[in-house]
Amino acid sequence: MPPRGARKAAPSAVAVSPPHSPEDQKRKLVDEDREPTSPLRRSKRVKSAGASAASLSTTPIEVETGSQAKTASPGTLKHKARQGKAAAAAAAVAIKQEVEEEVETTVTGKASTKDNVNSVKEEEVEEKVSKTVKVSRQQKTKEAEMVPLRARTQGLRMLVGAHVSAAKGVFNSVNNSLHIGGNAFALFLKSQRKWDNPPLQDDHRDQFRAMCKEHKYDAAKHILPHGSYLVNLAQEDKAKAKQAYDAFLDDLRRCEALGIQLYNFHPGSANSTPHASAITRLASALTSALRATTTVIPVLETMCGHGSTIGGSLSEFRDLLAQIPADLHPRIGICIDTCHSFAAGYDLVTPTGFAAFMQEFEELIGIQHLRALHLNDSKAPRGSKRDLHANIGTGFLGLRAFHNVMNEKRFEGVPMILETPIDRPEAKTGTKDEGGDDGEAGQAKGKKKAPKKPAGAAGKLVADPSVWAKEIELLESLIGMDPEGAEFRALEARLADEGKEMREKQMEQYMRKLEADEKKAAKGSGVKKGQKTLMEMMNGAEKKKGKTVKKKKKKDESDDDDDDDDDEGCQSHSED
Ligand SMILES: [Zn+2]
Ligand SMILES: [Zn+2]
Repeated sequence: MPPRGARKAAPSAVAVSPPHSPEDQKRKLVDEDREPTSPLRRSKRVKSAGASAASLSTTPIEVETGSQAKTASPGTLKHKARQGKAAAAAAAVAIKQEVEEEVETTVTGKASTKDNVNSVKEEEVEEKVSKTVKVSRQQKTKEAEMVPLRARTQGLRMLVGAHVSAAKGVFNSVNNSLHIGGNAFALFLKSQRKWDNPPLQDDHRDQFRAMCKEHKYDAAKHILPHGSYLVNLAQEDKAKAKQAYDAFLDDLRRCEALGIQLYNFHPGSANSTPHASAITRLASALTSALRATTTVIPVLETMCGHGSTIGGSLSEFRDLLAQIPADLHPRIGICIDTCHSFAAGYDLVTPTGFAAFMQEFEELIGIQHLRALHLNDSKAPRGSKRDLHANIGTGFLGLRAFHNVMNEKRFEGVPMILETPIDRPEAKTGTKDEGGDDGEAGQAKGKKKAPKKPAGAAGKLVADPSVWAKEIELLESLIGMDPEGAEFRALEARLADEGKEMREKQMEQYMRKLEADEKKAAKGSGVKKGQKTLMEMMNGAEKKKGKTVKKKKKKDESDDDDDDDDDEGCQSHSED
């Protein structure tokens, strides 16, 4: 599915997403200047500075502004902000040119093929030509709508981005990330809901590599694909385990073909088997997959610890590593999902709690294994073991937790990926102001726009990536911000207020669950079993209220997990 919201939202979002204030920029630059001797940091700064320079130029000649960024004084920052906007517009022009060129080639290619084929194949080829022309129209519309919502911030050591759409080819993820100003991004390498997927096309691979290069995304460092939800490497059933392993290995090989080093996936589920045996199966599958590949680093995501899911407790990663040969350890990564680890019970909110969590990570796993973060607030309270992502600052983590994250030195240079909800009521995205492209918009959005949730009243929900553009900006603004200062307090209060109703509702639900659990325990029916039934009941109730069609489908197809795949998970919006 195309990034519908991305296109729709463009005009309104530019207006509501102002560039950083000079003060913000100054703070960052000052922060940078504190450690001028770090070659790693300097090279990063130069790299991302070059990114905008590249998009400024519509010719193959690159403008070198790296040194400009290094010497920028607060006085030149306003100029830089304007430059950012110019870069955004120029990038859109460049995209248009690329698209037109590509379409022309395709059409000519098909036409000449037609000359050479016999009459039996003519019809088929003709069909292909008309399809290509249709695509060209779609792409032209896309180009018009792809004016970035915000320019990427240059020179940051914290690489914030989002899990963007890769619909219609992995290479599209690059533009989708550029669109929201992400300095890192995640994507699905293939459909996360199907076992059978066509192989990665050579032209898609080449285009992906070329676009990463052009827009200065280091595929080895800034990109973190997310694995399929169907794959459970800890699966006990032999046939299903083989299916899961094959799909996993296929993804790892796609990463290597694309020049991607990091690959995020869920540790899986023990189902009805003992946890320890599941971790052993996971270790063995991972070891085989690592031996079968050369460069890719599988990154295990921390989970919320619901049911028989592996990865709620950090100690489980220690146990896993202990069963993987030491020579492969440099190729095992961990991704901290803030929502998941908080829901699993870790305090990431208070500075002391956060420090304790980091210390535990150091002691049990080792910071060298930390390769990525998923940045999500949590709709459900700490310890609830519910996987419900909330927008930054509106959930139970609150903005204070993200201040901890954005100022944590150990997180520098690792991709930080937003998986926050971006589905919004259609009316809010401002489509109605856009004239002239109704047909295309309808075509692109129409059939797959099934709402993920009922929008309270009625309206359809559409993905609105401007939400991410704003969240990236918000998170970046936290770097170096005084958490006791008025600026932070005001931001924190505003966002907390936005999520107040949602938190109250979730807290009530959680309290009811605890109460029910207690009653069950008192009756002597066994807390563990009771908990599960209650979770199922809760999920059942949500579905009755019109929970996502997609999720039911996912559940039906996923036969590797007896655990109800609770809540929304890492995907914040529907995607094909
Ligand atoms: Zn995930
Ligand atoms: Zn996640």
